[in-house]
Amino acid sequence: MPKRYRVLRKCVTVALSVTVAALVVGVAAGYLLARAVVLRVAEERLIHQTSRSLAEVDADTAAARAALAAMNTSPYPYCSDAELTYFRHILFRSTYLREGGRMETGGRIDCSTMLGREALPKEQFKAIDIDRDGSRVYWNLAPFRTSKQATSVLQAGTAYVDGAMQIHSEGLPPGASMTLTLRGARGQPVSPSANGMSFTTDGYRRVDGRLSDTRCSAVYPYCVTGWIAGADAFDMGRSMFAACMTLMGLVGLVAGLWWAFVYCRKWTRGQQLRRAIRRDELWLAYQPVVDIASRRIVGAEALARWTDEEGVAVPPDEFIRLAEEGGFVGEITKLVLRHVLHDLGDLLRATPGFQMHVNVTAWDLAAAEFVPRMEAVLERAGVRAESVAIEITESSTANNAGAMEAIRQMRQAGHRVYIDDFGTGYSSLGYLQELSVDAIKIDKVFTRAIGTGPMTVNLLPQIFAMADALRLEIVVEGIENAVQARYFAAQGKRLRGQGWLYGRPMAAGELLKQVAADRDRGNREMLRGGDGKDRRSSPASASIMA
Ligand code: C2E
Ligand code: MG
Ligand code: MG
Repeated sequence: MPKRYRVLRKCVTVALSVTVAALVVGVAAGYLLARAVVLRVAEERLIHQTSRSLAEVDADTAAARAALAAMNTSPYPYCSDAELTYFRHILFRSTYLREGGRMETGGRIDCSTMLGREALPKEQFKAIDIDRDGSRVYWNLAPFRTSKQATSVLQAGTAYVDGAMQIHSEGLPPGASMTLTLRGARGQPVSPSANGMSFTTDGYRRVDGRLSDTRCSAVYPYCVTGWIAGADAFDMGRSMFAACMTLMGLVGLVAGLWWAFVYCRKWTRGQQLRRAIRRDELWLAYQPVVDIASRRIVGAEALARWTDEEGVAVPPDEFIRLAEEGGFVGEITKLVLRHVLHDLGDLLRATPGFQMHVNVTAWDLAAAEFVPRMEAVLERAGVRAESVAIEITESSTANNAGAMEAIRQMRQAGHRVYIDDFGTGYSSLGYLQELSVDAIKIDKVFTRAIGTGPMTVNLLPQIFAMADALRLEIVVEGIENAVQARYFAAQGKRLRGQGWLYGRPMAAGELLKQVAADRDRGNREMLRGGDGKDRRSSPASASIMA
């Protein structure tokens, strides 16, 4: 199978696995999200319902106590027909009180609005709670119990009412229940426990897979607990589960596909780049470096160029990074050196002052054989080390003893070493001193800021001072217009510059033409000078003129 298809197959396999994994993770995350949302919503609803029920029970209890107070001031003889009729009138006015009458404090019923005076139970009922004011509570009194729901009888003096302190279950969500728990003097539950949900302190709880919320009355000695089984809460949130799992699954799917796309593109680009290097398909553009004061060309920077198999011109930052990640950037440096010698070898041999700038990476500096191999190649081509300047970025030298050693060796061989994109990294005086280089290339962000007035411009004098202190030569990058050029020319220093104002990166042939034109211009100026002396003071440009 051709290599191209093998790469594609691997790509598709990885892409599919990642996409499926991202989908599964998305759905799982959706499930967890929905679970959290459903539980939160159930909690909110439960707290709302419990608070509402407590308010209703409080209102009913207040009504029951008012009814009892009215009954105890009855003007009629104890348990007479007239008194029972009077009681019925009072009870009719209440919505929930079903029944009432007289009960002696020992717990025996003497008369009842429902049962009269005759068919009454003989036993003495026992109160489950006696309040501080002497009122008593009886739980589920047999004669009055009409449904499965627990009922309570409230007694004050000798009057009693049945149906007080009762929870109304209207409006409860399906699966939810409410329980009323009487609270004893010491805060303990005194009514019989309902499904283990007898709590006498406020709070939201999760008990045995059930969600519960308890709110206690501020006025009366009871608490209301609302609860729902977790499964019922999840049942209610079924649509939430469907929505969250679908949505998060989709997010996972899109993220997976995007990652797969980026991965495959990078992978195949990396493969394409390796192929292009092997087939020697990269080429170099050269950008002139000039002496700012005289505008004479004193060198050029070699910049690699690559067009991928889809015909896209890939920016060098991007493909250099790709090669660094793939561990084959050293191949590009070799290719650049080979092309430089092929394209401009004659110029370099014939023009001693012309400097060809070559970018090298941290990876190159770390390779022990890099410097000796470069020297050997230059020697074979008859080009002196002084003609090739090396550009390295600050980051590629950070905390790297190998890089320091490579710099030392290159300088010893005769190369000038430049710190590229200066100002964007670790640019401290101490650091520069330690690095021991020949020159810095001030990054184009500083040049771009000239005339716009932001902070970066203020740093330029500091950078100049730093370079002066360390006797470093300066090349300014990114000079695009006359304002910027004038700013640097006015510094009263011998600065070199590079930028669109002097020439964009161009093919080797074009650079050779420009160098020749520059040399003619220099010769003419010298002749016009009449005294035969070069009026420019740059030694580099003087040598080009030769
Ligand atoms: P660099 O070494 O700082 O190269 C200068 C970059 O600034 C070049 O971008 C050049 O085209 C651009 N430039 C020059 N003058 C101007 C200007 O006036 N205005 C603006 N806006 N830009 C200007 P390019 O060619 O895209 O290269 C980008 C980077 O890629 C280079 O930055 C260098 O770090 C890296 N690179 C390029 N070729 C090679 C190479 O052969 N080897 C290595 N290791 N890195 C390379
Ligand atoms: Mg550079
Ligand atoms: Mg640069």
